[in-house]
Amino acid sequence: MATAMVDSGIQNTLKALRIKELNEGSSTGTKFFSSGEVIDSHSPVDGTLIARVRSTTKEDYERIMERASEAFEVWRLKPAPQRGEIVRQFGQRLRELKEPLGKLVSYEMGKSYQEGLGEVQEMIDICDFAVGLSRQLHGLTMHSERPGHRMYEQYHPLGVVGIISAFNFPVAVWAWNTALAWVCGDVCVWKPSEKTPLCGIACQHIIADVLKENSLPEGISCLINGDYRVGEFMTHDKRIPLVSATGSIRMGKIVAQAVAGRLGKSLLELGGNNAIIVTPKADIKMTVIGAVFGAVGTAGQRCTSTRRLIVHESVYDKVKEALIAAYGQLRIGNPLDETNHVGPLIDRDAVKMYKEALEQVVAQGGKILVEGGVLEGEGYESGCYVKPAIAEAKNTFEIVQHETFAPILYLIPYSGEVENAIALQNGVVQGLSSAIMTGDLREAEKFLSAAGSDCGIANVNIGTSGAEIGGAFGGEKETGGGRESGSDAWKIYMRRQTNTINYTTELPLAQGIKFDL
Ligand code: NAD
Repeated sequence: MATAMVDSGIQNTLKALRIKELNEGSSTGTKFFSSGEVIDSHSPVDGTLIARVRSTTKEDYERIMERASEAFEVWRLKPAPQRGEIVRQFGQRLRELKEPLGKLVSYEMGKSYQEGLGEVQEMIDICDFAVGLSRQLHGLTMHSERPGHRMYEQYHPLGVVGIISAFNFPVAVWAWNTALAWVCGDVCVWKPSEKTPLCGIACQHIIADVLKENSLPEGISCLINGDYRVGEFMTHDKRIPLVSATGSIRMGKIVAQAVAGRLGKSLLELGGNNAIIVTPKADIKMTVIGAVFGAVGTAGQRCTSTRRLIVHESVYDKVKEALIAAYGQLRIGNPLDETNHVGPLIDRDAVKMYKEALEQVVAQGGKILVEGGVLEGEGYESGCYVKPAIAEAKNTFEIVQHETFAPILYLIPYSGEVENAIALQNGVVQGLSSAIMTGDLREAEKFLSAAGSDCGIANVNIGTSGAEIGGAFGGEKETGGGRESGSDAWKIYMRRQTNTINYTTELPLAQGIKFDL
């Protein structure tokens, strides 16, 4: 990739977020220190070297963990609504910096500027959610079976929460975890993806200012940088009771074993292989919009991207033709230009995997309906721009069973009843997002029933892609089983304690047991 100076528009963005040419990649609050090897952050948009970041060494990590542990002693005793006030101020700062942060997300990761702004909006939304939550960390009361006794449960903070995140949501996933963990009284250590380290540094600057202004311990928010080896510092660290890890299934299996090996908890948000079922009762116009956005949005690099379209044979040709026509309209190019629909893949390794997947689908018996290919020439110098492709395939093809993080959509026909489509939809190892397009209530309810979709997310007349922060987000099977964001996802960031209080002068034992002395 080229190493040129970044243009002045991006320079202003970097200035607003205090990104330097060479950044210290480890920090607690405002204190930055790290001495490890240097990671170059290239933009997939134009191949430019944006800036560099020093990765975290084991010694840096130990210093960070010390500060995090000290900070926890203070933070856990602060009343939860006061912790919520800090998160409120953080959300306010995000509102003020939404444009530069959204632009950095777009430039460093390659998603469209609108999606970059959308990601920052998700951070703001989860802050609002967490502020309300800070007054609602409710436990239950139970009736004791013993006279003169009171029984209830309460939730306490866990300690240091480790967060490992993927490149494709370089800021929102961190906020989903931290906003909740902070109001719950935990402190956080974050390792962003080594492909998007600058987004991590920008976020850390923002929260560090808020902590400093409130004279709070810097270790409440900590940042470490580097590849899997730095992630492993946390997964093997007994001082970290919860590791929240977002990324590939391959990574999740390693992380899960490391954390379970020391009996820690892990919250896993892993890969998806999401399908939309299109029944004879589907609205074809809505289907095409949902499927195209789901398959090509973020260049197919969302965990919830639509990878499979399972279409009833009676509407198959109609859907196929409408999709081919829609793909003909797609504009591929610089994601900062709002007229483009599809931006670049994250790097050339991702391009290689895209090319291999297209070769494999043909080798396994599939048929290409919309040709793929890598774009070259002016505007495509980074080598990361690819054409969204569609292939006719069978669900059983090995490549269809696999999540390729690129804009490739597999068209799979089904016949007979909706149960057949549900079986195909469930016939993969992943279980993140799913959808059905139908105007038929019976079909929709079958899809949502206990015999229906086996995914963590099941939508009706909406695509698979994207989710609102108010619901719990996550998936089943090899997607890892974790839940983040809304609903009662906060409970994983706390430890539950059952308390029984005896306000009599007797000591009756439970279950009527007699133990007379
Ligand atoms: P990745 O698995 O390559 O890396 C993710 C993170 O894990 C990175 O920070 C990486 O450094 C770290 N890591 C890798 N191996 C590790 C190890 N052994 N120990 C500790 N840390 C380790 O994933 P990626 O390419 O950055 O992201 C794409 C993947 O993430 C896709 O599979 C996508 O579906 C998934 N994803 C899932 C969700 C979700 O919520 N389910 C959200 C976003 C992305």
